Amino acid sequence: MEPSCTKSFLEQDKEIIAPLYGKSDIEFVKGKGSYLFDKEGTPYLDFVAGIAVNALGHQNQGIKEAVLNQMDKFNHISNLYVNMPQVELGKKLLQITKFDKAFFCNSGTEANEGAIKFARKYFDRKGEGNRQKIITFVNSFHGRTFAALSATGQPALRQGFGSMPGDFVHVAWNDCEALKKEVDNNTCAIMLESLAAEGGVMTLSSEMVSTVNSLQKEFGVLVIVDEVQAGTGRLGTFLGFEKYGLKPDLVTLAKGIGGGLPLGAVLLREFIADQLKPGDHGTTFGGNPIACAAGLSVVNQIMGGILENVKTRSAQLKEGLSELVSKYGFLKEVRGEGLILGIAIDEAVPVANIINAARKEKLMVLSAKGNVLRMLPALTLSEAEAAEGLTKLDAALSNI
Ligand SMILES: *Cc1c(COP(=O)(O)O)cnc(C)c1O
Repeated sequence: MEPSCTKSFLEQDKEIIAPLYGKSDIEFVKGKGSYLFDKEGTPYLDFVAGIAVNALGHQNQGIKEAVLNQMDKFNHISNLYVNMPQVELGKKLLQITKFDKAFFCNSGTEANEGAIKFARKYFDRKGEGNRQKIITFVNSFHGRTFAALSATGQPALRQGFGSMPGDFVHVAWNDCEALKKEVDNNTCAIMLESLAAEGGVMTLSSEMVSTVNSLQKEFGVLVIVDEVQAGTGRLGTFLGFEKYGLKPDLVTLAKGIGGGLPLGAVLLREFIADQLKPGDHGTTFGGNPIACAAGLSVVNQIMGGILENVKTRSAQLKEGLSELVSKYGFLKEVRGEGLILGIAIDEAVPVANIINAARKEKLMVLSAKGNVLRMLPALTLSEAEAAEGLTKLDAALSNI
């Protein structure tokens, strides 16, 4: 069907795009920094940031220059040849994180698929092919491709898709006893997010961190930390787990790392990389030169002072959100760290109502599981913008 310009964006989308998302009818045409603008030029304060993708906001100058500069050279050459933007980004990431090797892909789910394959291949090459079991957490989110979906602790997302890769087990978040019961000499890995963002903005308990660390030591299981949402500076440290003291063998990155371009990564320890050979895994687009050039700009900017901003803005927002929790009886508690912040809402008030009320105030926010309001502003958020967000949220809540 020919899309007609008299139809709304949403009507045209419905005619053309497969019906996989519940989409808003706002007609965004442009973004700048922490704002999105609709067709009328109305600014919306963006506390969604492309679901934590636009780490440096919209139209970041450094990313723009890096992309254009790389486009003057080549867009793509495949992984058959050395792609220097990929090497440069990898070098920078290894310097910052003290990991030993990097693998690049295009998305979070691919990064997790890669990490799962590397973990299993590592044990297989060591003659421990029996180690296949991977333990993850209830309500976790690791992606939509089959192994990442098996890893995801949400059975509803697997329904109707037939057989799944096996040997994935899910235990409740922060349930140390349940985790201990599952780990043995047939366990390949424990896989967890440094902060369960989609699952309800749930932070790790210190008991859980020490349980994971001691099981890793005792049974030689690998620890995979999914930093797709919480990494790349979002918790105020470059990788989220640094805040909690996990010692992962593999970490996965995506979302913010490309600053809006599709980019994912797995960082791994030498002893795992040593067991991998050419042909074990691969990707056509992964580590694309343009995405990596953008990624290098993102990482350089984050390490150039943005982590400090994340900490200050986080403290400012947490204080303001706590005041709102005291003011409105249907708000239960503030959750989160850095710039993954949430408010748990009483079941009587669906979080969708608050998202709609915020939209009327021209503030974009999203939800997480368990009736939780989630906020993921750009890491470059200013003091004035954070204050504006709090004022708008207050106005929205007063209309509930
Ligand atoms: C978004 C997300 C993923 C999946 O990333 P995609 O790029 O959508 O494949 C995996 N893990 C976590 C923690 C995420 O937030």
